[in-house]
Amino acid sequence: MKNILKIQELDAQIRKIKASIDNSRENKLLAEFTKVMKEGRNFVNNIAEVSNEIIKEFNEINKKFDLLNAKSDITLKLKPETAGIDSVGKLIDDSNYLTSELAILEQRMRELTERGSRLLNDYNTAMNKLKDTKSKCDALKDMLAKKKEAVHPEITNLQAQIKKLEGDVDEKLYEKYKSMLKDNIFPVFVHLKSNRCGGCQMEQSLNFIQKLKQKGMLPCEECRRIILADEIK
Ligand SMILES: [Zn+2]
Repeated sequence: MKNILKIQELDAQIRKIKASIDNSRENKLLAEFTKVMKEGRNFVNNIAEVSNEIIKEFNEINKKFDLLNAKSDITLKLKPETAGIDSVGKLIDDSNYLTSELAILEQRMRELTERGSRLLNDYNTAMNKLKDTKSKCDALKDMLAKKKEAVHPEITNLQAQIKKLEGDVDEKLYEKYKSMLKDNIFPVFVHLKSNRCGGCQMEQSLNFIQKLKQKGMLPCEECRRIILADEIK
């Protein structure tokens, strides 16, 4: 039992070191910048979609231009003197219609061009921001890698100490300890503190405490941690 508790102490030290990196300013910034990168990529993808729509609309307008041009060619070829006076009225109507349609198309084209240039502007801004954020992320990753490298010998040393202690432990209890670590329960062994579980602070019944005194250790019914009886007076 003593050795398992020592192992738990060493594991606590390892976890503390790892947590100090996980909770470091660099790691938090990296998470933030990674989120910004993701948003930036979505934004750029969205721009790509919108620009496809603009291209489609642009092609559509071009097609209409061609159609109107073809129509106006025909209208021009119909000379008033050969077409007869009856056709002149229709010719003027056609001509007015074509002119107004062309004006509408021109307006749409102008709007489309403006939208396109705004989009390009947004795209360039977003790409610059992405590039900037990426280099910040890379720098942070470098810093974190160095931090991890710096604590590596310490962790290796602690792990070696654990390895040594593992040779002399109650195997069944140690298996239990390891399986609870896997479930992210830590610490696994706790003491009773003012009749409460030292892990989850759940108050224990007198009946439970009585049984605990007899058995030496009992799992907490609330958090499954193993409560040790050794400090009960
Ligand atoms: Zn508990």
